[in-house]
Amino acid sequence: MIDFTLTDEQLAMREMAHDFAEKEIRPVAWDYDRDGTWPQEIIEKAWELGLMNSHIPAEYGGPELGTLDGAIIEEELSWGCSGITTSLSANGLACTPVILGANDELKKEYLGRLSEAPLMAAFCLTEPDAGSDVSGMKTTATRKGDKWVISGSKCFITNGEYANWYTVFAKTDKEAGHRGISCFIVPRDAGVIVDKHEDKMGQRASNTATITFPDVEVPLNHLVGEENHGFKLSMMTLDHTRPGVAAMATGVSRAAMEMAIDYSKERVQFGVPIAMHQAIQFMLADMATKVHLSRLSYYNAATLLDQGRRNTIESSHAKRFAADSAMEVTTDAVQVFGGYGFIKEYKVEKLMRDAKILQLYEGTAQIQRLVIARETLLPRKADAPVTV
Ligand SMILES: Cc1cc2nc3c(=O)[nH]c(=O)nc-3n(C[C@H](O)[C@H](O)[C@H](O)COP(=O)(O)OP(=O)(O)OC[C@H]3O[C@@H](n4cnc5c(N)ncnc54)[C@H](O)[C@@H]3O)c2cc1C
Repeated sequence: MIDFTLTDEQLAMREMAHDFAEKEIRPVAWDYDRDGTWPQEIIEKAWELGLMNSHIPAEYGGPELGTLDGAIIEEELSWGCSGITTSLSANGLACTPVILGANDELKKEYLGRLSEAPLMAAFCLTEPDAGSDVSGMKTTATRKGDKWVISGSKCFITNGEYANWYTVFAKTDKEAGHRGISCFIVPRDAGVIVDKHEDKMGQRASNTATITFPDVEVPLNHLVGEENHGFKLSMMTLDHTRPGVAAMATGVSRAAMEMAIDYSKERVQFGVPIAMHQAIQFMLADMATKVHLSRLSYYNAATLLDQGRRNTIESSHAKRFAADSAMEVTTDAVQVFGGYGFIKEYKVEKLMRDAKILQLYEGTAQIQRLVIARETLLPRKADAPVTV
């Protein structure tokens, strides 16, 4: 039977996350966006309440929630502000390769750090010349005695400036393309340099930085998973985290739709509230459909993972559809506000700026379509095993 009825625990968690978004995030979201403020206080409160690191297994001190549970939290927090939510949820991106592939010693040390204190970790895949095509990365990891030496630079790294440790993808075989990539944990105090803080169009309360590894040395056991299996690990990671991005997009769309509904009931033109004009009603109806289907698509993609099943295509469907929908819904919400929508005082413009990044990070809208096309043209066996 197909049933997306939430359990009592999920309903309670959703309520707690919504309450947090309403009381702690929304009141500061627009100021933090204007000033590009790092949300340290919010991170500490969210960590205290268990709204961060939902994915960390109980044996490493985490709440060990399911993928769907975590995504439900992300929708609510993003209704408050998706920039602040990107800061709160990026540990999930950094930790997933570790949870999927690291040895027990590494998991205890590095997942344990995030369970014990409100610390951040960052996922370092992208480079200036290697975005959608990560096989072009130039960062290398070379074995030297009992160490790996990591050399290179990563750009656009979420939480890069504040991370306590980094999950870093580097070439261990320069000639082997994507089959020559491995994954490592690099603690910040190994000599990591924060080079550049990005000034962004949207999600301005999230931190995005260039990170350099100048011949940084880590012990041999800091390899995550098998040598040269890093590309697969990164793709499996994105299968796990894309439902969360789709959930964030759903939260942004919902916030924009609510603002548009409220405004359409207040604003009078031609003697009636603009909500009485069918053209406005149809825009609101399309928003409602997109919010509903975005939510169903991330519920589906997350639930498959929670059942231990492959979700590659569903994850891309959800991320692609919900992110494109968030861009459309927020643009239409500005349209409902007319000229006022373009004025910062009316707040809805922030959502349109924030929505744009959802179509870019964790695989652009085009890359999601490439994944969907590949999985559609060459379908894998249903229930193919999920392995690193
Ligand atoms: C705010 C922000 C936060 C980020 N956080 C992180 C992070 O924490 N960690 C991390 O590793 N990275 C992060 N990224 C990087 C992000 O994932 C990349 O920007 C993204 O994957 C696209 O890479 P690119 O910017 O190099 O674009 P490119 O790959 O150069 O793409 C440019 C355009 O070409 C299109 N394109 C490329 N290849 C194809 C193709 N084969 N077919 C069709 N179209 C194609 C793309 O869709 C895009 O429209 C972040 C980026 C931003 C802006």
